[in-house]
Amino acid sequence: MAEIQNCKLYIAGTHQDAADGETFDNLNPATGEVIARVHQAGKADVDRAVEASHKGFAVWSAMTCAERGRILRRAADLLRARNDELARLETLDTGRPIQETSVEDINSGADCLEYFGAIAAGLAGEHIDLGQSFAYTRREPLGICAGIGAWNYPTQIACWKAAPALACGNSMIFKPAELTPLTAVKVAEILSEAGLPDGVFNVVHGFAETGQLLTRHPEIAKVSLTGEVGTGRKIMADAAGTVKQVTLELGGKSPILIFDDADIDRAVTGAMLGNFYSGGEICSNGTRVFVHESVKDAFLERLVARTEALKIGDPLDPDTQVGALISLEHTEKVMQAIADGQKEGARLVTGGQRLTEPPFDRGGFVTPAIFDACNDDMNLVREEIFGPVLSLLSFKDDEEAITRANATPYGLAAGVFTRDLTRAHRTVARLQAGICWINNYNLTPIEMPFGGYKQSGLGRENGKAAIEYYSQLKSVYVELGELESPY
Ligand code: NDP
Repeated sequence: MAEIQNCKLYIAGTHQDAADGETFDNLNPATGEVIARVHQAGKADVDRAVEASHKGFAVWSAMTCAERGRILRRAADLLRARNDELARLETLDTGRPIQETSVEDINSGADCLEYFGAIAAGLAGEHIDLGQSFAYTRREPLGICAGIGAWNYPTQIACWKAAPALACGNSMIFKPAELTPLTAVKVAEILSEAGLPDGVFNVVHGFAETGQLLTRHPEIAKVSLTGEVGTGRKIMADAAGTVKQVTLELGGKSPILIFDDADIDRAVTGAMLGNFYSGGEICSNGTRVFVHESVKDAFLERLVARTEALKIGDPLDPDTQVGALISLEHTEKVMQAIADGQKEGARLVTGGQRLTEPPFDRGGFVTPAIFDACNDDMNLVREEIFGPVLSLLSFKDDEEAITRANATPYGLAAGVFTRDLTRAHRTVARLQAGICWINNYNLTPIEMPFGGYKQSGLGRENGKAAIEYYSQLKSVYVELGELESPY
């Protein structure tokens, strides 16, 4: 039996109990064991976090950009130094394999703090010459920002929101998903250790109600969500009451286009990365795999052979490639989508089975599923499943592939596999997606802006673009000439 942690709120640089003493249990998705008792924030706690954020903001926004940058870069170093410990915690909390969390999650968070730490020092407005006068702009912070995270990449999401927000001089109140509360508090501790003033980064735990207290709070200037499209709609509506800025990183049903001249092994790797990494629990996954009809059989054969060789098992075993899904409830939904896909007439070629023998019976261990004989109208092909489920579709020519790839209300990501780079760029220019990969899939370097078209989101995280979404411009007109009165 694992030791049960006490996971408190992190406000004003200290761990604090919820005012009304309310807690909820946090489970290890692989074993069902309770690993933490989590303090649940109510109105009094959110108000306390807002008060702390005001104080933190006053200190932080008055520091120079260079000083802020130095603290963020120090936090990146501390995060990296604690990689193994944090990766283990992330695996216990998410059920994702340690071979992923130990190379991906903490590193990505540290990269983000480092990148925005470096960018912070260069933030500046501009000088505009107007002849007899001039104007200048000041790039100023928004104030208190709220970050609300999904459960799939908790450390990364906390850092992707905190780093640009803090670099711009804002303070932040972050609410992790209630299923994965553990590592955001560690990020907060590390930021404090790096020298972040108290109250600049606070963590409150809880469910949708806690999120709503943030999105409706009149003293919070902005909310950034990573979550489902439906949640994005609700948050936009709630934020409208106080005209908050919103950044929304939402879901998708992204396409991967594999042309007849593609390197088939590379395309198989891309499709596997875009469907089975993290148990398929990735927003940008390319779950609609369009393959040119002339190479489809060869592609499917290789894909099935390599997928069946994946090792499913204990997420803490370094050899495990497929761990547990986030919860039994989510597993039910994934299994239902697989059953419904079969009812709709799609052919389950391999996988799609839940392991029920001990020790796997206590978690959601699902073998990666490949569907063939799909068509664009099936729910299987239209709805986000957020599990290890790939749908294969075939096409005859480029025009058809592009039209069908775009026929979705979502537009988060897309992939193109071809040896002809002219064809690749021509295709990408016509794809309605915020992030496109050519001959690769699902890589998210911090330097590259990340965000969706259409209903997959608003705004961008990462890259220089993120600065626009965490700052506001003040224009200042300075008169040097005479002021002639028309009166
Ligand atoms: P949810 O939308 O269910 O939850 C996201 C966060 O919002 C959670 O912290 C949740 O709290 C909170 N929340 C839920 N309802 C409200 C509300 N009405 N007001 C304020 N906060 C609310 O998403 P999941 O956690 O289930 O994550 C999976 C989804 O996230 C998928 O659709 C996926 O595509 C998307 N995603 C998008 C990414 C992107 O960058 N585009 C990246 C990763 C995931 P609670 O935890 O209590 O439910």
